[in-house]
Amino acid sequence: MGAGDRPGDGRLDTRLIHDGRDPAGHAGAVNVPPYRASTILFPSVEALDSADPEFRSVRYGRTGTPSSHAFEEAMAALEGGDRAISFGSGLQAITTCLLAFLKAGDHLLMVDTCYGPTRAFCRRLGRLGIETTFYDPLIGAGIADLIRPQTRVVFLESPGSQTFEVQDVPAIAAIAKARGCTVMIDNTWAAGVWFRPLAHGVDISIQACTKYVAGHADANLGVAVCTAATAMAVKLTAVEVGATAAADDLFLGLRGLRTLPLRLARHQDTGLALADWLAAQPEIARVLHPGRPDCPGHALWRRDFTGACGLFAVQFHQTLPTPALSALLDHLSLFGLGYSWGGYESLALPCDPRRSRSAVPWQGGTLLRLHAGLESPDDLIHDLSGGFDRLRRTL
Ligand SMILES: *Cc1c(COP(=O)(O)O)cnc(C)c1O
Repeated sequence: MGAGDRPGDGRLDTRLIHDGRDPAGHAGAVNVPPYRASTILFPSVEALDSADPEFRSVRYGRTGTPSSHAFEEAMAALEGGDRAISFGSGLQAITTCLLAFLKAGDHLLMVDTCYGPTRAFCRRLGRLGIETTFYDPLIGAGIADLIRPQTRVVFLESPGSQTFEVQDVPAIAAIAKARGCTVMIDNTWAAGVWFRPLAHGVDISIQACTKYVAGHADANLGVAVCTAATAMAVKLTAVEVGATAAADDLFLGLRGLRTLPLRLARHQDTGLALADWLAAQPEIARVLHPGRPDCPGHALWRRDFTGACGLFAVQFHQTLPTPALSALLDHLSLFGLGYSWGGYESLALPCDPRRSRSAVPWQGGTLLRLHAGLESPDDLIHDLSGGFDRLRRTL
């Protein structure tokens, strides 16, 4: 991507303000209103019969409305794809893309550090006769040794869920493509802004727009940004399985896009400030943040990414007993305890990657995932500092 595509520079910021809008087509309204529609009425039998094999016109609410078309247009432009397809959640985007390119007898290469529910879906694929091999996120060009004649899809997620290993996306994509595989990535962490996978050889970039794109913890939304060669297979499968995004969530996703670079820059700065503070606490063994040199794959992050979001993790020297974790987390006043991330609020979540790794066993003390929200960094550090004081009294 060009230097002009970073947040703060004109090109990306300007595009995100103007893409996916058409005031003249909506009575002058700045934002595309949410089209809550199932039935679409046609003026004539002839119009009713006019086929649209690409599902680009509005025929039935589930297969596309002006709300989904506007959101998809903006997301395709953001990630440099030929076409984007919207989904009711990030997980629905992932599962539908996998189903689009896999059939019984096929083999899937899935990164060991994928999002937990993605891993769970691979068990479902096994019951459909599709075998999964989980691979080391840091395998790089070594992926060549794992590709079989039956391998149809190589799936990446970078940085990895919970542990933030950064993958060599261009190396893996080039080898996988040369062997005839479709390459997909979960790009939720970079939000389509800090990393643009299609420019690095990936075919389909998937995001949980539930996270930063919506950005306010109030929508469930997913997207698959596709190359011209892959888009129709994804759209057809979405139609077959009935995958669709709700009008209000599409509206919120599109609205979130307008401020995405601004928010991400602040999430990044606050995340790095919290990471610095945490790295200095004696209880912390490692800070797993792609923007810091001790994160596996940090050099790749420097090469391929233009920034970091607010999500990272810290690992303690020891496994904290539940009372110690409770002392640390239960009385934080600004950090909420909860799943998901990417909203304006800060969050903390204890994680245990041991239960979800098979290619590379996970070792060491307690892992705590943190999401840096949009609060003042000083207030957040003060909140954490109180938690560490309470933790120390229990150890
Ligand atoms: C949350 C998340 C998803 C799933 O998104 P939903 O919209 O909650 O289904 C997928 N991948 C990653 C990395 C996530 O964090």
